[in-house]
Amino acid sequence: MRAFDHDTVQSAEEAIAALASGGSSTMLIAGGADLLSLMKSDLVAPARLIDLKPARDLRGISVQPDGSVRIGALTTLTEIERDDALAERLPILRAAVLDAATPQIRNIATVGGNLMQRTRCWYFRGPYTCWQKGGDWCFARGGENKYHAIFDQSPCVSAHPSDLAPALLALDASVAIQGPGGQRVIPLDALLRPPTDERRHETTLEPSELIVAVTIPAQPDGARGAYLKMMERHAWAYALVSAAVQLAIQDNAVTRARVILGGVANIPYRVEAVEAYITGQALTTELAGAAADLAIVGATPLARNQYKVSLARELVRRAVLLAAGMDWQ
Ligand SMILES: Cc1cc2nc3c(=O)[nH]c(=O)nc-3n(C[C@H](O)[C@H](O)[C@H](O)COP(=O)(O)OP(=O)(O)OC[C@H]3O[C@@H](n4cnc5c(N)ncnc54)[C@H](O)[C@@H]3O)c2cc1C
Ligand code: SF4
Repeated sequence: MRAFDHDTVQSAEEAIAALASGGSSTMLIAGGADLLSLMKSDLVAPARLIDLKPARDLRGISVQPDGSVRIGALTTLTEIERDDALAERLPILRAAVLDAATPQIRNIATVGGNLMQRTRCWYFRGPYTCWQKGGDWCFARGGENKYHAIFDQSPCVSAHPSDLAPALLALDASVAIQGPGGQRVIPLDALLRPPTDERRHETTLEPSELIVAVTIPAQPDGARGAYLKMMERHAWAYALVSAAVQLAIQDNAVTRARVILGGVANIPYRVEAVEAYITGQALTTELAGAAADLAIVGATPLARNQYKVSLARELVRRAVLLAAGMDWQ
């Protein structure tokens, strides 16, 4: 690990000023759960870290007058897990963070850092200059790709590691971003984007910008959700595949559906075909099975991850039924 300066800031505004004065070798640090391991592996080498932890305006969970919920970027996964009122209002969030990492990591891991974490692809984390790191080739595409994507979104086949992001996307969350020119609010799906030749990163955040908070709009009447995650072991494991489903059901019919898969693409993968298929319908086990078939249309599994296709289908089937309060067996 290389030497670096470490400064703390007391507010989002101070953080933006510190980023502006520090230039490209300055980075933000929150819990450090991802950044410190990237630094130890020499994958990033900031000359200066801006520690956000004392910035109180980035913390906290609050319900706004319009019924939306604001979660500050520095809020930890444990704080989400332990907030009973939040779990009552948006149960999918507690379900998603409960399966993330370990209790110790959830104590330090923040919402902003979780959305900004880099891929767990072993070539990326190792000493290989693969495409995502500015090289010419994706080594996983023809190499060891057991944990990689089954939907092709870019030259890179990494799978997005976050549990929180699919759940937030299922809730139509937006992100407040502060930069030198002020604050802007964008849908979360405009922050998380597959990498491109020009931007070899899974997010569109500029280096001069900061995530301030995520906001979840008031959910429609009758809304309910489910988050399911398949892991190799039941703790301290990233999702092989996960499914976040949020439904609104009125008079027995689905009036709105969001279906997002994790662990299958560069970013959480929204399956609009499933959403359209079940909207307007009364859910039955047969309908959920037919909808789940649509979730895997277009999948292009690699040599070692074909198992993810049937996993994705089954998790969507179960999550749709669970979200509707039905037995998935
Ligand atoms: C062993 C292990 C297992 C894990 N398992 C899971 C899992 O199962 N599911 C899961 O979802 N995650 C998992 N994680 C990932 C973990 O949840 C993330 O690393 C963590 O949430 C990152 O948050 P942090 O606050 O520590 O971010 P940091 O490590 O401090 O920062 C990560 C990145 O985010 C940037 N950043 C941080 N805050 C902001 C902000 N407010 N605005 C802009 N940029 C910001 C930093 O500059 C850095 O680039 C695991 C991590 C470990 C180490
Ligand atoms: S999957 Fe992405 S991160 Fe992994 S080797 Fe390929 S380009 Fe690199």
